Amino acid sequence: MAKQEFSIPKLALELKSELDAYVMLEDLRWGGNGPESCPKCGAVGRQYFLNPANGASRKTRTGNVSERRVWKCGHCRKQYSVLTDTIFHGTKISIRTWLLVIFEVCSSKNSVSAWEISRKYEVTNETAWHMLHRIREAMKFEPVAGLLGGAVQVDETWIGGEPKNRHRNDPRELPRAYATTDKQPVVSLVHYETRQAHARVVADVTGKSLLPAIEEMMDTKRTHLHTDSARAYKQIAGEFAAHESVDHSAGEYARGNVSTNLNEGFHSQLKRSIDGTHHHVSVVHLQRYLNQFAWMYTNCKLTDSDRMRDLLGNVEGRRLTYKPVVADVDF
Ligand SMILES: [Zn+2]
Repeated sequence: MAKQEFSIPKLALELKSELDAYVMLEDLRWGGNGPESCPKCGAVGRQYFLNPANGASRKTRTGNVSERRVWKCGHCRKQYSVLTDTIFHGTKISIRTWLLVIFEVCSSKNSVSAWEISRKYEVTNETAWHMLHRIREAMKFEPVAGLLGGAVQVDETWIGGEPKNRHRNDPRELPRAYATTDKQPVVSLVHYETRQAHARVVADVTGKSLLPAIEEMMDTKRTHLHTDSARAYKQIAGEFAAHESVDHSAGEYARGNVSTNLNEGFHSQLKRSIDGTHHHVSVVHLQRYLNQFAWMYTNCKLTDSDRMRDLLGNVEGRRLTYKPVVADVDF
């Protein structure tokens, strides 16, 4: 059967009830055959669906009717649902709303703000904000099949800062005003062949800070590092299989596949989204936004529906128990 392409009208039509939403989430996560293994004990096989006594719904402890679909493990005898041990764990928001919001995020190139989600889906701002951060948790980069090798382009950029402190149009300002800037340095890596992107908040742009960020994604001994001529990269060049740089000050932007052009593209998309959609992003949460934009960049060739499938394949084991401090909430 051909994979279904979703759209908001199609989803709205299919998700008539919370039960429909549970079934769709199970299908998207488990491929229509139910869970392969138990989220409580990890045992594979012997996972049973518990038919509710009265048909489609069951009563919760408080007497409300719940359409939650419950499964039971034949090994540890524990019960669970498609939400257990995922970003949805303990949520009070309907799964119907969750699926629509996830599709909205996966199909918005410039992202979508908590304000927009709040208005469109009739949830509070805080709820929308927390939902979006849970979704970003599933976008977090985790090397599954080992670290990458090959050619990688690495470059830094500065994000945020109060508009009154922005000097970028001031010709007297140095290109990078270390001492006066209130912007946050960010390093990005783009793998030349796979176009996989990764971005990290760094304390500063010294080799000492940049190296650990690169090591999270790349096996340095198998890596050809491509950068501009910043001194920090020369300091850490010995850690890599090779290092080549282009000299922007001499007007050299690309030499063969050596350049930082992929990073430039990634950075401008990142800034467009942060400035245009989120307006202000607190430094405390910046890394979560970087996870989102790196994930979007990496998966930009996928359809919106396949991005949604990819995301739902990463929801397990990523419970976000963190409670936001209201002062830190950024929209
Ligand atoms: Zn079990």
